[in-house]
Amino acid sequence: MTQQPRNTDDSGAPRLRAALEGLPAYKAGRPAAAGEGAQTFKLSSNENPYPPLPGVLKVVAEAVGEINRYPDAANVELIETLAERFGVPASHIATGTGSVAVAQSLVNATSGEGDEVIFAWRSFEAYPIIVQLAGATAVPIPLLADESHDLDAMAAAVTDRTRLIFVCNPNNPTGAVIHRAELERFLDRVPRDVLVVLDEAYREFIRDEQVPDGVDVYRDRPNVAVLRTFSKAYGLAGLRVGFAVAHEPVAEALRKASVPFGVNRLAQVAAIASVHAEAELLERVAALVDERTRVLEALVGQGWTIFDSQANFVWLRLGERTSEFAAMCEAAGVTVRPFEGEGCRVTIGETEANTVFLETAARFMQK
Ligand SMILES: *Cc1c(COP(=O)(O)O)cnc(C)c1O
Repeated sequence: MTQQPRNTDDSGAPRLRAALEGLPAYKAGRPAAAGEGAQTFKLSSNENPYPPLPGVLKVVAEAVGEINRYPDAANVELIETLAERFGVPASHIATGTGSVAVAQSLVNATSGEGDEVIFAWRSFEAYPIIVQLAGATAVPIPLLADESHDLDAMAAAVTDRTRLIFVCNPNNPTGAVIHRAELERFLDRVPRDVLVVLDEAYREFIRDEQVPDGVDVYRDRPNVAVLRTFSKAYGLAGLRVGFAVAHEPVAEALRKASVPFGVNRLAQVAAIASVHAEAELLERVAALVDERTRVLEALVGQGWTIFDSQANFVWLRLGERTSEFAAMCEAAGVTVRPFEGEGCRVTIGETEANTVFLETAARFMQK
């Protein structure tokens, strides 16, 4: 090994990687505001507003008594449960502490200094962070006017240095989707040694039948990995568990690139119980989808220019009026997620919360 020269400045500070400089910090959705009304609502993090199912709470409570022991590092039971549920080999599944951690492991397993990672922008704000942390170069491709991915531009941006492409379907924060034919055409254009990650965090909320299920798409495409999470539809955001479905070399690389014992015992048992309780959980998702329809229709009725969303949130392209709108919501007792100068993402929450948001949106329109 070559000897590194010692730090000669007298700061005495440990040397940090240059990749950390200018790293954008992940901005989490703020907690619910203390509004004037009695009740306040958090519509800023795309969480599930329903409390955990009693059956899920029960297995978690039981597992609490064993937290002096390490969890199963290989996540055997969870992986087998998922393999059966999705009809894929267990060797094609890798878990992580939320799908954001799985996404990070995928980046770490494929990309480093000098490599490029392509994603649409604006999209999930963790993408630029994990790419920069890996020391790789982010290649953000602007969304189209209808808030969807510009897949032609993304395919055209592929170079010899491209290692991974994120495709967020539906896109966070805009809710726009990619249809089967468009996606297949894009995948046909991407070189086979470039990994395409289909981030399907909101899969269960999709009702547009032209949107493909990534698990069908990946089957005959070894360079496609699908990301899913228990945080949104399954309501386990606080426990941190997500997974990828990918062919063996990728799934195996993922297992190597992740932190050992990441997914804790409580998360594992809760995820398994949630897969078994899927029917019940999907009824809640259906109720949220009905609320989404109500919210979108009401916004259109109020005169908003708005595109469809297939996720558990809606997107208001407010431009310069973004902060003003976010502040008005805050004052009314609903916290939304502003993206300065661009727009607000508003999670579909409990009915009362959505109603307060809609009333605020109506008042804003009349200003
Ligand atoms: C919420 C979200 C995730 C991941 O959430 P985890 O809680 O880490 O599983 C991943 N991708 C997108 C686009 C999301 O919105």
